[in-house]
Amino acid sequence: MAKRIALTQLSSCWGCDQSLIDLHLRLLDVLPELEIVYWPAVVDYKLHDLENLPDNSIHIGLVEGSCRTKEDMHLLEIMRAKSKILVAWGSCSVFGGVQGLANQWDLKELLERKYMKAETVTDPRIPKENLSGFTEHIVPNPELVEVDVLLPGCPPTSDNTLDALTALLTNKPFDLPAKTVCDQCPMEREEKNIKQFKRTHEGKIEPGKCILDQGYLCLGFATIGLCGAQCPTVNTPCKGCFGPPPAVTDHGAKIISALGAVADMDPEELQNAFPDPIGSFYFTDYASSYLSKMRGKNRGKKK
Ligand code: SF4
Ligand code: SF4
Ligand code: SF4
Repeated sequence: MAKRIALTQLSSCWGCDQSLIDLHLRLLDVLPELEIVYWPAVVDYKLHDLENLPDNSIHIGLVEGSCRTKEDMHLLEIMRAKSKILVAWGSCSVFGGVQGLANQWDLKELLERKYMKAETVTDPRIPKENLSGFTEHIVPNPELVEVDVLLPGCPPTSDNTLDALTALLTNKPFDLPAKTVCDQCPMEREEKNIKQFKRTHEGKIEPGKCILDQGYLCLGFATIGLCGAQCPTVNTPCKGCFGPPPAVTDHGAKIISALGAVADMDPEELQNAFPDPIGSFYFTDYASSYLSKMRGKNRGKKK
């Protein structure tokens, strides 16, 4: 018998949904097993379609995005109540995502920047109507409700989502691997004395050689190995979008300590090489690293 599944978006870019759709004909392998009861990214469902379902009546609920608005919070809580297995789907959902970088500022500053100070603003007032109620900070979904499965990635690859769905539909566990992107990468890290870090436009990355060894920030050593090293294998540095391996609580701290070990540079030089350390070292997981530090809790731990 087909199992009920719901897929929803909080504040997000739709990329995780797109990645699933990118399965194309391979979706047919799982579609006969699924009864899709809510997927507004693809079909014109309404919120009340989800609200009216009985609690625990959805076998698997996938939640993309993080809670930037009160509406997002409502949707997340409903998905939790209706789903037997709730999956935090994508790095926004697991860690807070790129929008978690906004936690560097308070809500008032963010609203002023967007509505009053942005270069394109012609009427500098914060609108009083038609604004969603915003959350004060981005808090990763596993810190807000109990989440059963974490599937990071920005987005998770199509195969990641297919693998997770296949495992959950057959009552098998879906565990995150301990390996890193470097473990999946065909290149070998050898250099221990990096003398300079460059932005990608400041040089030419030589194919077939470790990108980090060449002095470009490639974060494969501190990033969970789920994507198959898809960036370094096409000569592009890993930005760490899948977040850290499960044992690492603070992605940035791990990166900084590892860079200290391979760079033959004094601390000031190293600091100056990265003018935006938070953006560089916590691309999708600043909200979770920040919270873990603030609360002394492990990321992703069930409530
Ligand atoms: S995890 Fe990445 S791809 Fe998925 S919704 Fe967030 S920003 Fe988009
Ligand atoms: S290129 Fe990047 S991912 Fe590959 S081994 Fe070097 S640091 Fe690791
Ligand atoms: S190589 Fe790094 S940046 Fe690229 S998809 Fe994988 S985790 Fe993300």
